[in-house]
Amino acid sequence: MTAILEAKNLRAAYGDRPVIFGIDLVVPQGGIVALLGANGAGKTTTLRALLAQTRTWGEITYQGQRINGASTQDLVRMGMVMVPEGRGTFVDFTVEENLRLGAYSRRDGDGIRKDLERVYHYFPVLARRRNQRAGSMSGGEQQMLAIGRALMARPKLLLLDEPSLGLAPLIVQEIFQILTTINREEGVSMLLVEQDAVRALKVASYAYLLETGRVAMEGPAAQLAGSEDVRRAYLGY
Ligand code: ATP
Repeated sequence: MTAILEAKNLRAAYGDRPVIFGIDLVVPQGGIVALLGANGAGKTTTLRALLAQTRTWGEITYQGQRINGASTQDLVRMGMVMVPEGRGTFVDFTVEENLRLGAYSRRDGDGIRKDLERVYHYFPVLARRRNQRAGSMSGGEQQMLAIGRALMARPKLLLLDEPSLGLAPLIVQEIFQILTTINREEGVSMLLVEQDAVRALKVASYAYLLETGRVAMEGPAAQLAGSEDVRRAYLGY
């Protein structure tokens, strides 16, 4: 297995307050890996640490290259792109303007136009609403827009922070289906932070369960989903 991303002894802090206490994790090339855990377990902080958005220590390797010290912008250029929790779309901009913002680090006009069509292919609803204000769209559509915007940066690895948050089950199902299609058709690797562990374990091949900034358990997704202990402690059913 080749890893697209590997973190060793990853630690992170907000100011003087340590929050992540030495996490080892691997995302295989072309794989989907889930990062699960309760509120405040440190899932978002782990993503932020990987993207150089907080004080971070440890060894991070992306596509075989040490990336400690690289800026978030460098990492986006290298294809490591986050879809933030709460979506972060620009509400007063249109759908298409938001998508174009996702390509801010690129200069290839033709490629950008092609990628817009590619996003519209995966998310037909965005094509229909391309001239609509992002803020006037439903939560599910805004989540699709956030994923579409990340795709405009030509990601090799998507870091998804709770794409299901606050959305109705049918929409969540649709979004997860599209994510797996993008993974399958384009080989985009994914690190998926989710509170909806049941659903995440269905799409991921491997999962880590975080507890107060440490990996409490890890394993193949099917194995974790089938474990009585995991079910009782983390999955709530
Ligand atoms: P959630 O699902 O609620 O986002 P999480 O697992 O993603 O939870 P984090 O958001 O990574 O957890 O939070 C981990 C810890 O860091 C928590 O104790 C939280 O209070 C703290 N924390 C998060 N963001 C900040 C911040 N900007 N400044 C200080 N502390 C923070």
